[in-house]
Amino acid sequence: MKFFDLHCDTITECYVKNKKLKTNDLDISLEKAECIDKWNQVFAIWMPDELRGKEAEDYYCKVLEKFKEECKDVKGAILAVEGGSALAGKLENVEKLYRDGVKIITLTWNKENELASGCFSDEDKGLTSFGKEAVKEMAKSGIVPDVSHLGEKGFYDLCEATDFPFIASHSDVYALENHPRNLKDEQIKIIIERKGLIGLNFYNKFLGEGNSVQKLLDHAKHILLLGGTDVLALGSDFDGCTINEEIKGIEKMPALYNAFYSYFGRTLADKIFFENADNYFKRQVFTK
Ligand SMILES: [Zn+2]
Repeated sequence: MKFFDLHCDTITECYVKNKKLKTNDLDISLEKAECIDKWNQVFAIWMPDELRGKEAEDYYCKVLEKFKEECKDVKGAILAVEGGSALAGKLENVEKLYRDGVKIITLTWNKENELASGCFSDEDKGLTSFGKEAVKEMAKSGIVPDVSHLGEKGFYDLCEATDFPFIASHSDVYALENHPRNLKDEQIKIIIERKGLIGLNFYNKFLGEGNSVQKLLDHAKHILLLGGTDVLALGSDFDGCTINEEIKGIEKMPALYNAFYSYFGRTLADKIFFENADNYFKRQVFTK
C-alpha cells in the first residue's frame, strides 16, 4: 500500500532524544516503514513556544541539520516547519527557509508568535501585519501555509490575505469532537473550495473516545459528506501526541488502509492514503 502522511514530529523527537531515524522505539523508523510500498512523509521541525527571535532561528537550524543527516537517503521525505517563529519576524527568512527545502510552514503552534495567535493564545488577534506579509511571500515562493494550530480569526485573515490553496496538515472535525484544534464545518468547506488538503490527526483527544480506527472513519466520512473527496488526507502526528494502540506506529498503516478499503472502497481509500496529497504536491509544491 501507499502512504502519504502530512505531519509527524519524528525528526524533532530524534533531535531532542538523540535517536536515529533508521532504528528507534518511536512511532516512525525507516525499518518499520519497510511495510509501506510507497511512502511520502512530511517531517516537521517543531518550534517550542518558549523560543522566539534569535533563539528560535538557532533551534530551527539545529533540527534542520538533524533532518538533513537522517533523511539524506530517504526518498519521499518532505520538510515542514511547525511554528512560524522560525522566521524570527524577518520577511527575508521566508526565502531562506525555501532554499533550505521547507515546503510547508504551520503558521503557529499553540501560542501567539510574530505571525498570528495560536488556538490556545489568551486572546485571538488573528494574523499580525507581519503574518499577512509572510503568507503572501510564502505563496510567492511556493511554501504552503498550514492552518493546523492557528486561531480561528487567523484562519479567516489568511483567506483574505491570499487565495493560495492552504492546508490543515493535522486536524480533525470539530462537529464530531469539540476541541479548539479541530476544524469547524465552515472552515472545512473553505479548504474544499480552495482545493487545499486536510490531514486527519491520530491524536485520541481530537478523535474522541472510542476505537481510533472507527473514529478516523467517522471523521473521514464527515469531511467526505461535506464534499472533501479530493482534499481528504492523513496527518498522523506520529511522535507528537498520544495515539491509541490500534493506530500507533507506521507499521499499523497497512491494517488501517484495509479498514478504509472495507468501509469506503478502493478508490476513496487510495485517495485518502496517498493520491489526494500526491496530486496536491504535484500541483502546488513540486512545480518549480
Ligand atoms: Zn502539531
